Amino acid sequence: MTIAGFKDFGAGLLHRKQAWRWLLPVLLVLLVLSILLWLPWQVQQMEVSERQEQLIADTLWVEQAIRFQLSRNEENFRQVGTEIASGTISPDKLRARTLLLLKNSSEIRRVMWLDSSDTIVASSDLRANTQPRLSDASAQASATARKLKSPQYSQPFSNAGAGAAGGPELMLMDCYLPIFQNGQYSGSVVLRYALQDILDAMVPWWFAQDNEIALTSNDDAVVVKRAAGGIGRGVYMHRRALDLPGAALYLRTNSVKNAPTLLPNLLVGSIILLSLGLIWSLWALWRDINRRLAAEGALREQVAFRTAMENSLVTGLRARDLKGRISYVNPAFCQMVGLSADQLVNKLPPMPYWAPEAIEDYEERFAQVLAGTVQRHGFEIMFQRANGERFPVLIYESPLLDDSGRQTGWMGSILDISDRKKVEELNRQQQEKLQSSARLATMGELASTLAHELNQPLAAISSYTAGAINLMQSGVVDAALLKPALEKANAQVQRAGLIIRSVHEFVKRREPTREPVSLQNLIDSVMPLIELQAQQSLVAIQLSIAPGLPEVLADRVMLEQVLLNLTRNAVEAMQQAPSGRRILRIAVALDSVPFEAASATANVVVSVIDQGHGIAPEVAENLFSPFFSTKAEGMGIGLKICRTTLEFHGGTLHYANNPQGGTIFRFALPPYLPQLSE
Ligand code: ADP
Repeated sequence: MTIAGFKDFGAGLLHRKQAWRWLLPVLLVLLVLSILLWLPWQVQQMEVSERQEQLIADTLWVEQAIRFQLSRNEENFRQVGTEIASGTISPDKLRARTLLLLKNSSEIRRVMWLDSSDTIVASSDLRANTQPRLSDASAQASATARKLKSPQYSQPFSNAGAGAAGGPELMLMDCYLPIFQNGQYSGSVVLRYALQDILDAMVPWWFAQDNEIALTSNDDAVVVKRAAGGIGRGVYMHRRALDLPGAALYLRTNSVKNAPTLLPNLLVGSIILLSLGLIWSLWALWRDINRRLAAEGALREQVAFRTAMENSLVTGLRARDLKGRISYVNPAFCQMVGLSADQLVNKLPPMPYWAPEAIEDYEERFAQVLAGTVQRHGFEIMFQRANGERFPVLIYESPLLDDSGRQTGWMGSILDISDRKKVEELNRQQQEKLQSSARLATMGELASTLAHELNQPLAAISSYTAGAINLMQSGVVDAALLKPALEKANAQVQRAGLIIRSVHEFVKRREPTREPVSLQNLIDSVMPLIELQAQQSLVAIQLSIAPGLPEVLADRVMLEQVLLNLTRNAVEAMQQAPSGRRILRIAVALDSVPFEAASATANVVVSVIDQGHGIAPEVAENLFSPFFSTKAEGMGIGLKICRTTLEFHGGTLHYANNPQGGTIFRFALPPYLPQLSE
């Protein structure tokens, strides 16, 4: 057999076993049921046969009683007959004796003494002298008795035929007792019975009460009957021959009782009730078992699911009872502390995973847990692994409740946070490094910006002082001539101071001192310096400022520096340009396109336009990169500072090629709207 075959065979066996498991109780129940149904039927049958048997016995008893009485009558009167024949009895005595006998046997209607020619010699009846005509049946009995020399009974006959005048019609039967003297027939004693009297006198009342009793002929025709207890039902019947010589008479009894019903008594009813109860309890049991099986299956599934879940957890779980004794630990917790569940379960503090140096902490925490005052949001503490290694954990404790909501202990979830701590430490170090390099970068930025920005005032101071020196060398010592140059130089020194302060503020990213600045004003104040730049390269300056411009909110010095940076670049770009093209144009106007789509207000745009060498594509790529310069002495941070400053003020810096050759640098600033800034 193949493996698959074995499996099929096994599955078949299992299936058959399961089928048997159900079939057997079902068969047993059916058996019990059929027995329970058969039992009442059997009881009924038994009752029927018992009643029948009882009837037969009673009938037999009655028949015996009748026969006994008849035999006794025969005996008594044969005695009398014998005495008559022998002539030893006087007629008076005979009468007295006969009357005594008749008194005891009320069923005998009449006693007659016939001689050998069937003539009545004497009779108990008053009308004895009248010679009655013997019925055929009676005559036949007489002949047979004479022939057989033994008592004979006649067939029943009606008294109507016997010549009885008046009175009710009776069925009669004669018993002939032949008397022989010396072997010679000398007559008969005839006992005349009324058959109805036999039934009435000889059948006891208790039997007549329960049965219809009849005397029937050979062909079952009723001759007489007694139905004191009612008409027979034909259920329990018996017929028995009376066995009288010469008379074919039968005693028939017919019980007035009905056949027993199937539910005659409480017993059968209770059996049926019990059967129904049994079926119901079996069905309830079956349903209960099925429910239990389903619940068990669901429970097993749940347990498997929970076990899988607990085993897959990386969080340690630890349950403790109200005394602090560990009642459960999950695999993750065991792995964490390096101890098996057996080593932990049922342990009371101090726990094997407590680090000796922190025992006090644990005990304090443990007391809080027992008192129920432990914080729910978790706490950090050090645990010790089995190898002595310490590791930080984060513990959350929550109450453990049973079905009825009563607290039975505490459930703690324990997180090994050593990895997290490592990451946090690494992060902190990284942050420190970043901060120090950021500080270095700021220092560098500060230094380079200052160096760059101070160039201009220094250059201006240099040219003013050089001018003053030139004047003095040419012999001019007039203080009135020297004073303006020295004042300008002084102003530039102060300006340098301002530059240093605002650059410092800017680099520190502190909020600069902003104020509403008018572009006209601003350009006016730096124009001398722009002219100074332009003079050296023989560049002409054209200025156009649209009227009615709004002010901008800015740090004045920083904004001046932006403008000076852009004009210096423009002048330097035109150094090699033919003299006719060396024109620096500064235009201030309102932008046609609003700076911010959301605000309907237009920006103030300042364009610095030159006709210099322009910007080559490779230069354009790095234009705003720090320290990028195409100039021999350039620092390459001017444009970078300009853009940062403008962005800091909420503005932008762009450039474009000048259609007439050269470059246009254009910066835009949002207008100062007092109502908005308030
Ligand atoms: P620097 O002027 O010190 O070189 P900038 O950042 O001010 O530094 O300028 C960077 C470079 O941009 C310059 O070296 C120059 O090549 C180019 N540049 C700036 N302005 C102009 C201009 N108006 N026309 C042509 N090139 C310019």
